Amino acid sequence: MEETEKILVIENLKKYFKTTFGTVKAVDDISFDVRSGETFGLVGESGSGKSTTGYLTMGIYTPTAGRVLFKGQDVSIHAVKRPKHIKKDMSIVFQDPASSLNPSKTIRDIVGLPLKIHGLVTNSSELTERVAQLLETVELPPERFMHRRPGDLGGGEKQATAIARAIATHPSFVVLDEPTSALDVSIQAKIIKILIKLQQELKLSYLFITHDLSLMRNVASRVAIMYLAKIYEYAPARLFFHNPLHPYTKMLLSSVPVLTDEEEALKPKEVKSTGEVSSAINPPPGCRFHPRCPFASKICKAKEPEFVLTEPGHYVACHLNTKKR
Ligand code: SF4
Repeated sequence: MEETEKILVIENLKKYFKTTFGTVKAVDDISFDVRSGETFGLVGESGSGKSTTGYLTMGIYTPTAGRVLFKGQDVSIHAVKRPKHIKKDMSIVFQDPASSLNPSKTIRDIVGLPLKIHGLVTNSSELTERVAQLLETVELPPERFMHRRPGDLGGGEKQATAIARAIATHPSFVVLDEPTSALDVSIQAKIIKILIKLQQELKLSYLFITHDLSLMRNVASRVAIMYLAKIYEYAPARLFFHNPLHPYTKMLLSSVPVLTDEEEALKPKEVKSTGEVSSAINPPPGCRFHPRCPFASKICKAKEPEFVLTEPGHYVACHLNTKKR
């Protein structure tokens, strides 16, 4: 893709949580960037650290080490300490709309709250008018939804409300944390359509977090894959899906159902896991994927693989790829 401005830069980011069982390394030294107007996909299985990365980006957690740079400004601090203009410019849609919307408030109150916080409306009728516009944008007829409460809505309608709230302050960057995985398949397509339309109309940049590789294939411009708190491969989406190099990427892609002969032809040969997912408290030395990797050799257990650039924009950290960066 054409190189555009980097709106978000993640540098050597770490987040460790102390628990009674030991220190959980939820995110362990990851780096990537999101460019203006793109959808950057962060994929991986449950527990890989992708949602924690989203929360660090938003300032819901503070990093243990590393930096989050937004439009060149270091925002590696908790959201409450972030300047107001940064909070207005970054937003998030959570996985579960049911728990992210206050059940005692009306849709008008919920979508209107960020408008009030950021002083974007001056009176009640202006607020009603602006909320109505936002609801129309996410295809919820205002006359039907404005005065209802989350409990009266279906899953897709709740998520559309959460999206309306997320774009209320006209942000330029939105974290989408598994925005469709709690929804029925038929509703998922509608929500994705709304997100794509909004991105084009409002020139939004997305950090799209999901475990769903089929979905990623359709929405992302670049993709990174996480395993046990680390990124192991990232590339433009076309290369990621047509020429995956890391055994973990191949393992996940080979198990994704496909619809067309063309997709079937592109599917990597099946890579079978040879073991269990290791603990994030005590990750294995060397390549963290080695207990599951059918290609693991002695070096994989001893030495962490470094990233190498294999083709333009395509990086992989695996001892099978030795072309130097
Ligand atoms: Fe497998 Fe070794 Fe590559 Fe890790 S570094 S993915 S264990 S071949």
